[in-house]
Amino acid sequence: MEKQGDSYIKEIERAKFHEERGKINCECYACEEQKKIRSEIIAKRKKIIADYEKEQKASEKNQSW
Ligand SMILES: [Zn+2]
Repeated sequence: MEKQGDSYIKEIERAKFHEERGKINCECYACEEQKKIRSEIIAKRKKIIADYEKEQKASEKNQSW
């Protein structure tokens, strides 16, 4: 349990460290992975919003016709 806690804290510290470095274009593997994951999440969100708007427009059409 203690070991798990230690690694969890280390994980947070590392994340903080890389985030700070990320501000000045850190190019280590961990930061690149994070950027990739973030852009994937943003892309997914955009897709969900686009799909939702499409559905909204489709239902609006159905109502007005
Ligand atoms: Zn980094």
